[in-house]
Amino acid sequence: MQPVIYLAFVDDWEVRGNGTGDPRALQFEPMRKLVKIFNNYGIRSSFNVEVMQQLAYRNLQERFPELKVIADEWEQVVKESFRQGHDIQLHVHPQWWGANYEGHGNWKLGGDWSILTYPSQQIRAMLVSGKQYLETLLREVDPAYACVSFRAGSWCAAPSEYLLPILSELGFVFDMSIVAGIRSDTPQVKLDYTRCEEPFAPYYPDLRDARRVSRSLEPIVCIPTNSFSGARVAVLRRDFGKARVGLRRKIHELRNRKPEALPALSRGRSGDEWTNKGESGAVGFSKRVFKRYILGQTHIADLSRLNYAMMRRMMVNIRKQGAKSGLARVPVILENHTKDIFDFSHIERFIATFTRSPNLKTVTLTEIANGLRDGTFKVRTA
Ligand SMILES: [Zn+2]
Repeated sequence: MQPVIYLAFVDDWEVRGNGTGDPRALQFEPMRKLVKIFNNYGIRSSFNVEVMQQLAYRNLQERFPELKVIADEWEQVVKESFRQGHDIQLHVHPQWWGANYEGHGNWKLGGDWSILTYPSQQIRAMLVSGKQYLETLLREVDPAYACVSFRAGSWCAAPSEYLLPILSELGFVFDMSIVAGIRSDTPQVKLDYTRCEEPFAPYYPDLRDARRVSRSLEPIVCIPTNSFSGARVAVLRRDFGKARVGLRRKIHELRNRKPEALPALSRGRSGDEWTNKGESGAVGFSKRVFKRYILGQTHIADLSRLNYAMMRRMMVNIRKQGAKSGLARVPVILENHTKDIFDFSHIERFIATFTRSPNLKTVTLTEIANGLRDGTFKVRTA
């Protein structure tokens, strides 16, 4: 049986994990562009807005008035998108806890990247302040707005004694931080999701380890963010395309360099934060190439990282997983990072082609939460 797929276009909205990059270049501009594309096709998407960054800007805006200008625009863009029907939900990067600002767009982030390493009171404090901040902001537009879903920074959600119990206590309906098949072993992030018991459909999690499916009903649901593997030829094409776009962007920047341009108006730089242990240097590089193009790797269904051919491959896989699930209706969570979109045309082509196909609807995260509550979407136990 082919189920109806309820596709959620989700976007983690933030600057780089190390705090670099100008929010105007990495967030505001591309969000406006993306929202316009969604609007053209009558689709309502969802943004997981990273709130710790915004709270850090607000904390220090008295001392650094330039931060207030950006924090104000942040709220304005978020409200603009929300007013147009797009959903806004919570995303938390704990490395912004106690962040220091050195001026000229330079942030020093001292906090740990994984929320799992914090004591329970601190996890609670971050979640409470994030939820309250969003609800206060967005109830000015819609008094019924509620923060109902959560995406952890750097995907760090399991195992944890505290995270899921606190989320459910605060009224969150579901978490979408699990991505079956991924693994990180970097100085900042250690997680292992290579053995997840449910890679696709909504499930009641073991409250102490969201990688496992609970035997009983639980007060919170997990929906994995979709992932797929293979597509090696498409990956090779994507990487060439990306290199070409990057080069063109550099040339354009060099040609149009104005002396008065803000030094901070940049796309930021990721260091080796995302390089796994043993994969740096020349040997590591060849290991990575082998894994990527020969063995094939697990891809997060992150539209900013995929070209159109990979998106097509992703949809084939979603349909296959859907048929296997035996469900009549199933929500599927896609990912995106506005800061990483290198070519909007692939996303636009994907939206134009796939959102019209039979047995496919698009939903916001709030609609998924409602569907979980009213039984539209079944949730499995072990
Ligand atoms: Zn993030």
